[in-house]
Amino acid sequence: MDCIFCKIISGDIPSKKVYEDETVYAFYDINPMAPVHVLIIPKQHISSINEVDETNSAVISHIYEVAAKLAKELGVSESGYRLVSNCGADAGQTVFHLHFHLLGGQKLKVEMC
Ligand code: 5GP
Ligand code: ZN
Repeated sequence: MDCIFCKIISGDIPSKKVYEDETVYAFYDINPMAPVHVLIIPKQHISSINEVDETNSAVISHIYEVAAKLAKELGVSESGYRLVSNCGADAGQTVFHLHFHLLGGQKLKVEMC
C-alpha cells in the first residue's frame, strides 16, 4: 500500500521514534508546529476517523493512554497540550493514515477553526 505512515511503521521511511508497542507507533512530526509535536498512529492502516468502527476502535482508547504517558514523559502534562486528529479536506488532512497530533510546549492558540 502506498502510505507514508505504513512505510514509517515498517521502517522503509526513517522516523524519530518516541514510542512503540504492538498496536501503536509514535514519532516526531517532520514539520513541527510547536516545541512538542508528536504523531501517534495505529499500526493498523485506518484512513481516518471516518473508518473507525466497533471492529477497530479499541486502538483509539489505547492511543489516548499512550498520549497521556507521552505527555508526562515529554514534560507537557502539567503545562497543557492538545491532541488533534484532522479528518478530510476541510480539516486539512494530508496523510490518509489515522494520526493524532500531540502538541504542546508553548501557549497554543485558542482558535479551533
Ligand atoms: P495532517 O495534515 O494529515 O493532519 O498531518 C500530517 C502530518 O504528517 C503533518 O504535520 C506532516 O508534517 C507530517 N508528516 C508528513 N510526512 C511525514 C514524514 O515523512 N515524516 C514525519 N515525521 N512526519 C511527516
Ligand atoms: Zn497506512
